[in-house]
Amino acid sequence: MTLKFCQKCKTLLSPQKKNGEVFLKCSKCGFESNTDLTSRENIPKKEKVGKGISKDENIFATYEHKCSKCGYDKAQVLDLGISYSDEDNLFLVKCGKCGFSERVGKDS
Ligand SMILES: [Zn+2]
Ligand SMILES: [Zn+2]
Repeated sequence: MTLKFCQKCKTLLSPQKKNGEVFLKCSKCGFESNTDLTSRENIPKKEKVGKGISKDENIFATYEHKCSKCGYDKAQVLDLGISYSDEDNLFLVKCGKCGFSERVGKDS
């Protein structure tokens, strides 16, 4: 929190709490000021993708993989871009039906 000074007597305002809200109060003249709560960035961004596809259909589910949860045989490959080693070629697939994701790789 940045320091604020009283607009009247230039005394350093000290934070006070009243009814659960924090405000700044001058200890000298009693001037009250709201704390700087202007930077409210808690607005959730909800991106709605309106592509007109049904909810339980994943158009990216093209990889043939049987879901171990629901048995659906098409999954979406999620490219992780992570290789744990040179030999292991693991990647993540997401079930096109239930969304269950699991790691698959070469059978050793
Ligand atoms: Zn003051
Ligand atoms: Zn599934």
